[in-house]
Amino acid sequence: MDCLFCKIAAGEIPSKKVYEDEQVYAFYDIDPQAPVHVLLIPKAHITSAADITPENSAVVAHIFEVAARLAKELGLDDGFRIVSNCGDIAGQTVKHLHFHLMGGRPFTWPAG
Ligand code: 5GP
Ligand code: ZN
Repeated sequence: MDCLFCKIAAGEIPSKKVYEDEQVYAFYDIDPQAPVHVLLIPKAHITSAADITPENSAVVAHIFEVAARLAKELGLDDGFRIVSNCGDIAGQTVKHLHFHLMGGRPFTWPAG
């Protein structure tokens, strides 16, 4: 499959790894929107949050566990934001489920 994040998870395209296990790969965003901006992805391809099902949702819980641990390790003690853009209207540019973990600055709400 011609998927950028599948290739990054497989090591076929280089990235700055933050964490990896059998299910999850985490790496620094190439165009950071905050002092800390990490992407967490399932290694198995899921297109977006709209494609989470009872069969594949366990990895999502695992990603949030990893995100909480990474937030601590990266010093985001004051808080952080986790975002998953789903579909073109929400600004999803890479069609492989990913969670942005961002911190190190204040965030406004509602998001634009
Ligand atoms: P989206 O716009 O789909 O929510 O998020 C995709 C993210 O992937 C963007 O923040 C973008 O900067 C990041 N990105 C796109 N291509 C690459 C790449 O080749 N390497 C890395 N590390 N990040 C990428
Ligand atoms: Zn993929």
